[in-house]
Amino acid sequence: MATISDNLQQVRQRLAAACQRHGRHPAEVSLLAVSKTFGVEAVAEAHAAGQRAFGENYVQEGVEKIEAARRLGLPGLQWHCIGPLQSNKTRLVAEHFDWVQSVDRLKIAQRLSDQRPDALEPLQVCIQVNIDGGANKSGVAPDEVLALALAVAALPRLRLRGLMCIPEPAADFDAARRVFLQAQALFQRVGAALGDRAAAWDTLSMGMSADMEAAVAAGSTMVRVGSAIFGRRAYPRA
Ligand SMILES: *Cc1c(COP(=O)(O)O)cnc(C)c1O
Repeated sequence: MATISDNLQQVRQRLAAACQRHGRHPAEVSLLAVSKTFGVEAVAEAHAAGQRAFGENYVQEGVEKIEAARRLGLPGLQWHCIGPLQSNKTRLVAEHFDWVQSVDRLKIAQRLSDQRPDALEPLQVCIQVNIDGGANKSGVAPDEVLALALAVAALPRLRLRGLMCIPEPAADFDAARRVFLQAQALFQRVGAALGDRAAAWDTLSMGMSADMEAAVAAGSTMVRVGSAIFGRRAYPRA
């Protein structure tokens, strides 16, 4: 059976090949390992294989894992919250995570900024955009991104980094790339409009296990990969 370390190696090779094919420099695309539903042992295994950035969808599960990893003394970890956020969970997120990629309304961003402890770095945030208008999906509509970005950029304890999206699974590479290219165009347009108001606007988080190559082809700067690293998730979560 392939180990997490083998899988990570393979994902890195897929990314390197996609960068080569599409004229991207490998250093432009970072890898977020999505460890949701897997235990801290899986995180430790990936950490031993050189992985540092991890993504979690469920706040309670994520916080428990962050604390378990701290008890193990794993150095250099960076934790990203990538799941839908409710108001009553923002304090836990503000106190434990380094990044939140799923900001899709101002009220949540305001709470995160208010609740971010002074002793920590500002919370790094991305706005989640519903790029393909998928039904019952989180994320702000594309034409509402700029207004939200302007408001988020003004919050003192947040640092606005860019956009995140999760398009519907596409039929093939070209279809996937078309949607990702829309996200890239929006990312560039909003970044230009923000100018100095969001000096750290550098992150376009898109691409998962099944479509990371198409995302790299369309300018992704961060792919979020779960099952290709950790294997199939044993239990589905809402
Ligand atoms: C689960 C999840 C991923 C990883 O998905 P895989 O298909 O397992 O790679 C990436 N992003 C988000 C927001 C997720 O919820």
